[in-house]
This record gives sequence, C-alpha cells and structure tokens, in this order.
Amino acid sequence: METIVKNKHAEAHALIDGFLQRHKDRHGIYLNDLYKYLGADFVYGQTKTRKALVGILLEEQHGRCCYCMRRIEGLPSEEMSIEHVIVNHPIDANDYNQYLGRNSQLDSSDIISSSDFIARQVPPPPYPHAVAYENMLMSCAGHCHIGLKTSFTCNNHRGHRFIDPLPLMANINREVKYQKNGFVYWINETNTANPTVEVLGLNYEVLKLIRRIWYKLSSKGLKVDDCDRQKLIYEVLGDLLDENEDDAVIQTLFLFANNAWYWKLLQQFDYFNDSSKFE
Ligand SMILES: [Zn+2]
Repeated sequence: METIVKNKHAEAHALIDGFLQRHKDRHGIYLNDLYKYLGADFVYGQTKTRKALVGILLEEQHGRCCYCMRRIEGLPSEEMSIEHVIVNHPIDANDYNQYLGRNSQLDSSDIISSSDFIARQVPPPPYPHAVAYENMLMSCAGHCHIGLKTSFTCNNHRGHRFIDPLPLMANINREVKYQKNGFVYWINETNTANPTVEVLGLNYEVLKLIRRIWYKLSSKGLKVDDCDRQKLIYEVLGDLLDENEDDAVIQTLFLFANNAWYWKLLQQFDYFNDSSKFE
C-alpha cells in the first residue's frame, strides 16, 4: 500500500466550488445527499464534474486502487468507484468523528460533516465530507472472478463499515506488510474483531494468490508476458502442497494457468512485481 498525498487542492476545490455554487443557485439551498447531485453536475461543453475529479484522483494514485493496488486506470467505469474514507452517510456524529485523530491527512483537511454543512448553509471551506476532495479516493470495484459482479474487496466490499484511513497515513508503505505467501497485515492494527485489511477483503484468496504468484515471478526474475505460465503455476502449486493448502485454493490457482481473464487480472497487480515488497 502507498500513502496517497493529497496535494491537488486548488484544482479539485475549483471543481467542487463550481458544483456547490451551481447546486445552490439551482435549489436555493444546499440539499442533502450532495454526492448524488455531484454525479449529475456538469457545465455544457466541459467534462462532467465527477469525471474530472476521478481524473485528478487517479493521477495522484498513479492509476491504482487505493487499497489493493490493482491498476484501474483505463478499465471500464464499472470497474472503479469513488471511495469516501469517512463514509458518505455516517450514522451519527460519533460515526463521523471516529475517523479523526488517527494520524491521517483527514486531521489537517478543511472538511466538515455534510450534515453540519447543510445545517449551516455557508459556502466552503470547510467542505462537506460527501464531496470533499480530501475524503475521496479511487477504489477498484473488487471484481475477482470472471463474469461475477460481486465485490470481494475494497470500497464496495467494505460498504459502510469503519476502517482506519490507511492510504492517508504517512509511512503506510512501511506499515502494511506483505508476506511471501500473499498474506497482508497492518503492523499497527489494534482492532482484533474487525481489522481494516479484513474489512477491505485484502486477504481474499484470489488476491493472496495473485501476490504469491508475483512474489514467485519477481524473485525468479521472470517477466509475466513471456514466462512459461504452466511451469510457474506448478512451482506455486508445489509451495501450496507443501503447506497443505485447501483444494479450493489449488483450484483457484489453476484458473490463472488456464484462463486469459485471470492472467489479465494478475497483470493488473504488477505493483507487486518487486520481491523486496515481501517479507
Ligand atoms: Zn482494490
């Protein structure tokens, strides 16, 4: 995982300022569910506001999902989504406030809960969290199986559950650890019931296998485009058998050997093409 440095404030704020101004001009007041209105906002002849924001977010994330590091830039729009780190609809003030004071960039952001923003009816700053650039990240849709629109990981898998704002923390690249068997954990996790990496599904079997395959590829100096796929899979298989892995995991491994869709999925995780990323 990498720290996402939020430094495109001027560019992003200009977009959101324009949206909020048009919204207020049209409705007379700021209405609830600002994020929904953001999705429909545009100025004739210009890129839609939401799409322009997505471009800014993808650029600062180098085209990758904020959580699993899958390459999402260039994929169809249904393969990505805007993640609200502080959930779009917090249940109450406590639900909102629990995201603050966790040593992330949220602490220094000029944002306010959307309900307080609506109650005050004062133009930004501070920005309502539902449409605040500082609270938005790009996530993949978490699709890990061919033809299946289920979200196994990341934003859509998380839903409204609490997470620590990991990608907005400094040094997170050193604090999130990847093991050679593909397992991931955060060294500062204190929540044993719902660890953030589990809420995000980052140890879902397919992702673990993908990271494991990349460890194998990178440690052997193999290139994904011209490696002997079967040979590679058999090497990983050997490791899995040594560790008495479940049959289901082994069946999943064979998907990568036999199916181009899964091989393409693997390639989207080339962030892990670096054996030094594994411990
Ligand atoms: Zn993801």
